[in-house]
Amino acid sequence: MTHTTEPRLSPAPTTLTTPAYAAQSPTSPLAPFTIERRAPGPREVLLDVRYCGVCHSDLHQARDEWGGGLFPMVPGHEIVGQVAQVGAEVTAWKVGDAVGVGCLVDSCRHCEACDAGEEQYCAGSVGTYNATGKDGLPTYGGYSTRLTVSEDFLVRIPAGIPLDRAAPLLCAGITTYSPLRHFGVKAGDAIAVVGLGGLGHMGVKLAKAMGAQVTVLSHSPTKREDALKLGADDFVVTTGPEAFAANAGRFSFILDTVSAPHDYNAYLGLLARDGTMVVVGAPPEPTPVAAFPLIFGRKRLAGSLIGGIKETQAMLDFCAEHGVASDIELIPIQQINEAYERMLRGDVRYRFVIDLASLE
Ligand code: NAP
Ligand code: ZN
Ligand code: ZN
Repeated sequence: MTHTTEPRLSPAPTTLTTPAYAAQSPTSPLAPFTIERRAPGPREVLLDVRYCGVCHSDLHQARDEWGGGLFPMVPGHEIVGQVAQVGAEVTAWKVGDAVGVGCLVDSCRHCEACDAGEEQYCAGSVGTYNATGKDGLPTYGGYSTRLTVSEDFLVRIPAGIPLDRAAPLLCAGITTYSPLRHFGVKAGDAIAVVGLGGLGHMGVKLAKAMGAQVTVLSHSPTKREDALKLGADDFVVTTGPEAFAANAGRFSFILDTVSAPHDYNAYLGLLARDGTMVVVGAPPEPTPVAAFPLIFGRKRLAGSLIGGIKETQAMLDFCAEHGVASDIELIPIQQINEAYERMLRGDVRYRFVIDLASLE
């Protein structure tokens, strides 16, 4: 009896082994971890991650402060990289393009929010990490050297913005740009940004580029000089009640970026009649809001979540046009746990960005 041997082609790899950093549990520090990325499907792109910003939301989630965290968790949603491979049907992107991925990697694509270009409010949106993808597998973020993503959830990094300084725009940038635009902040408006961290410093730069008069409200007196250098017109230290009395009714709009619990009622007192305070900072614990600070002056307290893909591209183009980028401290990924501790202490000027070359 003879056996014929069919020539066998080795199958195309369906996954790509990728180094990453993960938290194995809410109490474990981030540590090396190996993940598998999908080989790109027909309408997907594989990118080599160059830089990833460190958002306070990464820390909230890696420590499961908001609850519901999926572990092991590979954080990171301020991702900038270069296209390494494109699927057969991709026409918008080519190998070598400088691209960004923010907080979302997919959405349902047919609801009212998706149709409006506001995928962040889609009930079926898929987070870049700490979420379950449409394939039923956990999503892993940018603390890794490559990422496979739908062609529709990429944005282009305009020439002229250094890639490392562009990374924080993918979350800190869009999260502050979107409410400034949505609530109609315009040239000459007296506005305030509460908290001068990663989001706050982008809020100052973007609001200034829109022509607003910007005051920083901070609990860190040492940030005064920086705030003015970033373009702020004024700086108020908020640690005593006198600051709230002296500035009552002063602002038409307040953008609150603070990561820890604080008294919203006090800040509402700083709004002028018909003023709006938008909360983007997401402290884990709830804060009581009283009726009277809203009633007197017909004030509004609102919230805002990142921004849609189209708006993220508009924000990047706006930044290129106005010479806006993030102020960063570049770190190797091996320093990520120390960076989290420093971020908690407010010791970052003003965003840590991981250089993924340190993980290769
Ligand atoms: P960050 O860099 O740590 O900045 C937070 C700032 O809040 C600090 O720099 C500090 O500013 C102020 N702050 C911190 N602790 C405080 C305290 N105990 N009392 C008063 N002020 C305090 O954080 P981030 O990355 O900008 O993120 C800020 C918040 O936004 C986080 O909660 C994050 O999860 C959330 N976030 C929300 C969205 C969204 O879509 N809504 C998107 C991204 C991030 P001063 O020193 O100037 O007071
Ligand atoms: Zn973020
Ligand atoms: Zn949708």
